[in-house]
Amino acid sequence: TQWVYSFGAGRNEGRADMRNLLGGKGANLAEMASIGLPVPPGFTITTEVCTWYYQNSESYPADLEDQVKAGLARVEQAVGNKFGDHHKPLLVSVRSGARASMPGMMDTVLNLGLNDATVEGLVAASGDARFAWDSYRRFIQMFGSVVLDVDHHRFEEIIEHIKLDTGKIDDTELTASEWHRVVDGYKEMVREVTGKPFPQDPWDQLWGAIGAVFGSWMNQRAITYRRLNDIPAEWGTAVNVQAMVFGNMGDDCATGVCFTRDPSTGENVFYGEYLVNAQGEDVVAGIRTPQPMSKERAKPGEKPMEEVMPGAYAELVKVRQTLERHYADMQDIEFTVQSNKLYMLQTRNGKRTAAASLKIAVDMAQEGLIDHAEAVKRVNPAALDQLLHPTLDPKAPRKHLSKGLPASPGAASGIVVFSADEAEARAQKGESVILVRIETSPEDIHGMHAAKGILTTRGGMTSHAAVVARGMGRPCVAGCGGVSVDYNNQVLSSGGIQVRGGEILTIDGGTGEVFVGSVAMVEPQLSGDFATLMGWADEVRRLKVRANAETPLDAETARKFGAEGIGLCRTEHMFFDPERIGAVRQMIMAETESGRRVALSRLLPFQRQDFVDLFRIMTGLPVTIRLLDPPLHEFLPHTDYEIAEVAKSLGADVDAMHRRAQELSEANPMLGHRGCRLGISFPEIYEMQARAIFEAACQIGKETHKAPHPEIMIPLVATKRELEITRAQVDRVAQEVFAELDYHVEYSVGTMIELPRAALTADAIAETADFFSFGTNDLTQTTFGLSRDDAGKFLPLYVEKGIFPKDPFVSIDPDGVGALVKIASEKGRRVKSGLKLGICGEHGGDPSSITFCESVGLDYVSCSPYRVPVARLAAAQAAL
Ligand code: PEP
Ligand code: MG
Repeated sequence: TQWVYSFGAGRNEGRADMRNLLGGKGANLAEMASIGLPVPPGFTITTEVCTWYYQNSESYPADLEDQVKAGLARVEQAVGNKFGDHHKPLLVSVRSGARASMPGMMDTVLNLGLNDATVEGLVAASGDARFAWDSYRRFIQMFGSVVLDVDHHRFEEIIEHIKLDTGKIDDTELTASEWHRVVDGYKEMVREVTGKPFPQDPWDQLWGAIGAVFGSWMNQRAITYRRLNDIPAEWGTAVNVQAMVFGNMGDDCATGVCFTRDPSTGENVFYGEYLVNAQGEDVVAGIRTPQPMSKERAKPGEKPMEEVMPGAYAELVKVRQTLERHYADMQDIEFTVQSNKLYMLQTRNGKRTAAASLKIAVDMAQEGLIDHAEAVKRVNPAALDQLLHPTLDPKAPRKHLSKGLPASPGAASGIVVFSADEAEARAQKGESVILVRIETSPEDIHGMHAAKGILTTRGGMTSHAAVVARGMGRPCVAGCGGVSVDYNNQVLSSGGIQVRGGEILTIDGGTGEVFVGSVAMVEPQLSGDFATLMGWADEVRRLKVRANAETPLDAETARKFGAEGIGLCRTEHMFFDPERIGAVRQMIMAETESGRRVALSRLLPFQRQDFVDLFRIMTGLPVTIRLLDPPLHEFLPHTDYEIAEVAKSLGADVDAMHRRAQELSEANPMLGHRGCRLGISFPEIYEMQARAIFEAACQIGKETHKAPHPEIMIPLVATKRELEITRAQVDRVAQEVFAELDYHVEYSVGTMIELPRAALTADAIAETADFFSFGTNDLTQTTFGLSRDDAGKFLPLYVEKGIFPKDPFVSIDPDGVGALVKIASEKGRRVKSGLKLGICGEHGGDPSSITFCESVGLDYVSCSPYRVPVARLAAAQAAL
């Protein structure tokens, strides 16, 4: 087996499309080298070795060692230095690189190969003793913490001690001999802590580092990151061993991280940060302030690379273009300049905000780099959600607190918390929280995920907080130096204003502003790039997208977002209004048909007006109205006051009403007297609703000469007989109304398929139904035997333990619930080939469920209004 793949110096055994085997970093290093970009030579140990390692009690395949030796020999030859050589030592970096990028989650060791002898060689070769000893101490520090597990404070203590001793403040002031003293201190400390001398043999060092990278695949923060990002543990990481280049060998050296376009807005500008005379981790660590790339983006006093290193900058601009043309996507790159010569250390598709991903996709299609279909594929439908959420109302009053960097757009308000654990705990209780940290680290990701927004007081646009927040779509203000945070007293302050933990703060990640208290927000803009991309999506999708809506406001929102009709109008939701709930209770509690009819006659005019409004808003589009399906308990009177009210309206005595409430209360309302069961036992209820629908449809038809075509839907049907009975009622009322009003509208009557029995007998049911709509909420509940109302208590645990890959109420379970949908679709269409099929459970707005719906051949999905654009895009991607 080939376990090792070389790259650089004319031998490129890998390619970009080999990321499963080589990890993203390794595959792209090989790709960059093969298109002629300057990549220091090296080799990649494959992800298969990682898998092997974990399957064979953390050991390696027997032939790995020889392949690593051969790989390193090629690097030696290309560079002209030898590993462990006292005069011209080869130094290497050892980095992880998984299939999916997991920024900052796993370990890296730089300057490997240094020891007491080779450091002298580096002094001689570089002519810079200070650089060489600084490199050596960096190596011991990284190797010590990553491989030997020495607490990094122990290293800092030693530097602090020597600074104190020599009266120096900055690391940059230390001389070669002082760094030499640091190295001695480090070695002594490592021996003390680990009980062994610091390894001097470069081969021991190399294997130690390789083992540490494989080991880091299973560290806690990597595990958490994988869980949040759906990355399977079996994928494993690769290890990249590469000749070192140095950005810290003087003022003609530099290192930087940049994006080929602005990852925040998507603007087509070269965007990033670099530091002169620094090594990679200095940029991310935030100790020195990185400088901008281009003059255009530089603020007064800043030193853009374009000015400071014009030669290397010009070359980098060319690389930027080459990479964008080659990958046809925005790239996130790392580079180093050694003695004015540029080296590329990494490229990958850059993480970006939803806004940027939209703009970049549309721009790149317009620039001709990709086609429309590709642009549609580029935007993650779930991320689109971010764009549909509110921003601060420019006219709303606000109390300014401070301003930091606009690290991830969107506005958020919430209570201040100072730790990731608290953020998670309070978010679980349903609170909106703003996580405030001096800076964040990979240990904080669970809290960042739970928070509505993130505020840090330190760090730049590529700091951990900024990168992770953009990836998660959380609004973030980073590097807000005007705010000081006191963790001990749980308070932040700025300019004399204090905000305590638990008080409300608002951040605007688009501008970097921070406000005390909450600020009113406004709806997002849906024009421009958004409309363009949606137009492209609509051209390719087959599935129609409707909305679940019952109020005029929801219906209008749905239309604005592009809904092509209403797929589910839950009529019971129309009765929650205080004006109506009394009449509903009166209806439910009535002990006689005549009592119910009195209540229903109160409800009829409301209900008719509701439908008039809906039909008007949805002119020309289908509207599916589901007859009453109340879990009864939601409508029963509970308090004494409510019971007294109902008693009065029914002219009954209060005791009798208490008894009636007792009688009606159910042990398991979700499986009780709801849906068509109610419509069958109390036919006058569905009669009233059908009448309201037909009267409204006739009224609109007469007014506009464009009669709506109502689709009337019967809920919770388990047998064909139930549908026959309820359908007959509806048909009878239709004839009555048409005769009374001397007008006629087309209508259809269909059913929800939301019980396993209905799915399994769908052929019989289809004989009576004009359409099916899958109610996958109830279908999931009844297929799993999992209460919709109670599952929240233990489902998260099931998902965490991997017993369920995803929450089945969020993303359809393809093997169980999905199988029933498939069976019902096939059986239904066998009886009626043109049977219209839709889905109206929550899954209708979930991208992976939509992919499933496409595969089954449903006609439409229906989801909440805000998810309509998500569904349009997901449907387009499913069709491509
Ligand atoms: C369903 O069960 O999927 C459905 C849409 O109906 P409801 O959520 O109202 O029960
Ligand atoms: Mg249902």
